[in-house]
Amino acid sequence: MLAELKGLNEECGIFGVWGHEKAAQLTYYGLHSLQHRGQEGTGIVVSDGHALQGLKGEGLVTEVFKQDKLDELKGHAAIGHVRYATAGGGGYENVQPLLFNSQEGGLALAHNGNLVNANALKHQLERQGSIFQTSSDTEVLAHLIKRSGYISFKERVKNALSMLKGAYAFLVMTETELMIALDPNGLRPLSIGMIGDAYCVASETCAFDVVGAEFIRDVQPGELITLSDEGIQSEPFTFSTQKAICTMEYIYFSRPDSNIHGINIHTARKNLGKRLAMEAQIEADVVTGVPDSSISAAIGFAEASGIPYELGLIKNRYVGRTFIQPSQSLREQGVKMKLSPVRGVVEGKRVIMVDDSIVRGTTSRRIVSMLKDAGAKEVHVCISSPPIKNPCYYGIDTSTHEELIASAHSVEQIRDIIGADSLTFLSVEGTLAGIGRKEEGETCGQCMACFTGKYPTEIYPDTLLPHEKELVR
Ligand code: SF4
Repeated sequence: MLAELKGLNEECGIFGVWGHEKAAQLTYYGLHSLQHRGQEGTGIVVSDGHALQGLKGEGLVTEVFKQDKLDELKGHAAIGHVRYATAGGGGYENVQPLLFNSQEGGLALAHNGNLVNANALKHQLERQGSIFQTSSDTEVLAHLIKRSGYISFKERVKNALSMLKGAYAFLVMTETELMIALDPNGLRPLSIGMIGDAYCVASETCAFDVVGAEFIRDVQPGELITLSDEGIQSEPFTFSTQKAICTMEYIYFSRPDSNIHGINIHTARKNLGKRLAMEAQIEADVVTGVPDSSISAAIGFAEASGIPYELGLIKNRYVGRTFIQPSQSLREQGVKMKLSPVRGVVEGKRVIMVDDSIVRGTTSRRIVSMLKDAGAKEVHVCISSPPIKNPCYYGIDTSTHEELIASAHSVEQIRDIIGADSLTFLSVEGTLAGIGRKEEGETCGQCMACFTGKYPTEIYPDTLLPHEKELVR
């Protein structure tokens, strides 16, 4: 499904390099491959060992960085960020990496995720005299590091991290070291790779292929990795960890050529499609997927059901970002601009339309009606995830309970609203089995909160909208 139409958006992507003379250029290519994780702003900060220097701006990676500007970013280390604005909203000041200067030197921060206790910490820090430059929750970490009483920088970072709750993959860079930290649940993906003797770190492994890096390993929940002239060091900043990787990364957000904790995204989606076919048991003439993220699941569905996969919907790749409008009416119009049915494929046919999720339902309704207008005899909607009934507080811009159609409607009611002949969601068990992680426990080390309402962390009251405080268990 198309993220910007659906109302389900990833917040950010991060990339970093240590020990390579072309650190800024590699970061540029890394960020470019992570562009699907955020299109509203991007930045790179480099270190030459003596000073930090940064460049950032609103827009796409290719719009913000031109060759001459990139050439000015000289250094052996770099961190970069692509942003989708949710927590704290948009604006230049919220584009990351955030760069701070003090008597002790520079500090640059890049963050993927969302802190659930950011407001509580901000209030506390402001009472102690902090003044925030941005409205982003990321800045909290800088203030906590600065205010920590420990002498060693690493101890200050560990102490600051111990106060954060929620989802965070952090890159913290000074002139002399680059630190990588992942929250105790490991909610967001983060991996380490090598290019020759240099290290790199990325939100998704697809970035390693682009820069020619070899994947080394995934960063573990509660791990702090330090890269410096002394090499790589790893230590836990907490022993209280419980893996809860975001399931929507597998279902929808990450690129099909990425792997998260050893599982390829395309393969996982294909398996979800196979499970869905087994659960749905629908008779039809063709299977089609909503481009791009549902194609893998549709292929799996077709394979398991024996019903041929066809290209029943195509995406117009040349619709610019300017067409993406926030209002509902324009969003609906945007569906027509972005997707077209292939009449020759669907006319007179019983069509299975595979999609990865339903958020508000408006886009699904549009696509069903588009397929019927193009002559489809029946449209059976099959969703390769369970109904999204609960908002995400960990950096995914899902709607509030009220905007989530599955929060207040039964499957039959949703089917009726979207005008489909049948509607099937994959079960929670089918989702876990399809992704295929082998971890012990009820959720196999995955966060399933948007489906089940069982959040892996405490949800702080200031994270919730007033009407949601009643609803979250
Ligand atoms: S609530 Fe859903 S979208 Fe958010 S981290 Fe958990 S699985 Fe991912």
